[in-house]
Amino acid sequence: MRCDGYDVVVIGAGLVGGAIACGLARAGQRVAVLDEEDAAYRASRGNFGLVWVQGKGVGRPEYARWSRASSERWFDLSEALVEDCGLAPCYARPGGVVPALSDDELSDLDSMLAGLGQAAGNAGYEYEILDRSRIRELLPACGPEVAGGTWTPYDGQANPLKLMRGLHASLVARGADYLSGARADGIQPLPGGGFTVRTARGAISGNKVVIAAGHGSKALGAMVGLDVPVHPEHGQILVTERVAPLLDHPTLNIRQTDEGSLLLGASQEDRGFDTSVLARTSRDIAHRAVRVFPCVAALRVVRTWGALRVMTPDGFPIYDQSKAHPGAFVFTCHSGVTLAANHALEASRWVIEGRIPEEMACFSTDRFDVSQAA
Ligand SMILES: Cc1cc2nc3c(=O)[nH]c(=O)nc-3n(C[C@H](O)[C@H](O)[C@H](O)COP(=O)(O)OP(=O)(O)OC[C@H]3O[C@@H](n4cnc5c(N)ncnc54)[C@H](O)[C@@H]3O)c2cc1C
Repeated sequence: MRCDGYDVVVIGAGLVGGAIACGLARAGQRVAVLDEEDAAYRASRGNFGLVWVQGKGVGRPEYARWSRASSERWFDLSEALVEDCGLAPCYARPGGVVPALSDDELSDLDSMLAGLGQAAGNAGYEYEILDRSRIRELLPACGPEVAGGTWTPYDGQANPLKLMRGLHASLVARGADYLSGARADGIQPLPGGGFTVRTARGAISGNKVVIAAGHGSKALGAMVGLDVPVHPEHGQILVTERVAPLLDHPTLNIRQTDEGSLLLGASQEDRGFDTSVLARTSRDIAHRAVRVFPCVAALRVVRTWGALRVMTPDGFPIYDQSKAHPGAFVFTCHSGVTLAANHALEASRWVIEGRIPEEMACFSTDRFDVSQAA
């Protein structure tokens, strides 16, 4: 292992840091990736595994375009991981469904997608409003309470743990140093450029530093003049026993994994840094799942967990480079599975070029700066 002389030191080996590091290593950069111990908060190990576009970008068309581009790039990411390490993240994009349990819900979904379609302009935004009979053609397991739903071709799913494993294996196969148990406690900008990162495993230097540390990004960002206002949002997921293929399309809250389990989720609660599982939350998740797909009632739940989303105040990603210390970047988002392909295949280039493109400026932290907004 080298202790310095890296082109880039990436702090955080979750889906965001792992994807950026993978892209950097594939581009021939000398990369060190630092990660904490297993007890760390890790959204990447507790998520739902959707590569989801439908409904994203309301009020921020750039985010709709960015999410959609990632779902396209996901095929290339899958291929890259198989090429590097033989690990397929099981990506499939059969199009996703959002079932509605009332006409009001359906009409809200309709208006939202119409708005996204309008904002997409000439790029178009393909979607279908599904009536009672059409949704049953796509998802025959729907129960009588389902009033209809919406579908877009852009949505899909992957196995998020295989994705994590694939990203890590790929970056190592491409020559990056992956250092676990190396919590970064300090970032020191160096007078002539570059950074030294202080870790439990010693000091590590690089020309650039990427902060992709999830909930750790706030404290690390402050060390290089970046204000990173992330907060936790609790999400709970239930997993059923494996069953024969039942759902050909993922839905926003219920999907079938490549291994046959159904995932039921995912709640959204403000509980600070508490990751525990609540019975009443499980009950609510299961209740809605059974209303949508009554056959779920007969299945045994084999596992449940809680994990913390890394949320920004407006729910959109943060991509920024420090003005005070150029070469220090921060990347964070709450859809790290969906955006993994963009992060690996596109955002990693921004780090190499030392510049985040103008069209992505809307994701800088400046948008939270009240003095600039005034
Ligand atoms: C319940 C739930 C469901 C979700 N469902 C989906 C979904 O269906 N689709 C989707 O796209 N996204 C989903 N997400 C979001 C997705 O999981 C996250 O966007 C993504 O995992 C964030 O990755 P990350 O790398 O930023 O953060 P994390 O996974 O939290 O990784 C951060 C890493 O940084 C490390 N770290 C922190 N501080 C330091 C430090 N000082 N030094 C070194 N290392 C440090 C930590 O150890 C950790 O490994 C879901 C999330 C949750 C919780």
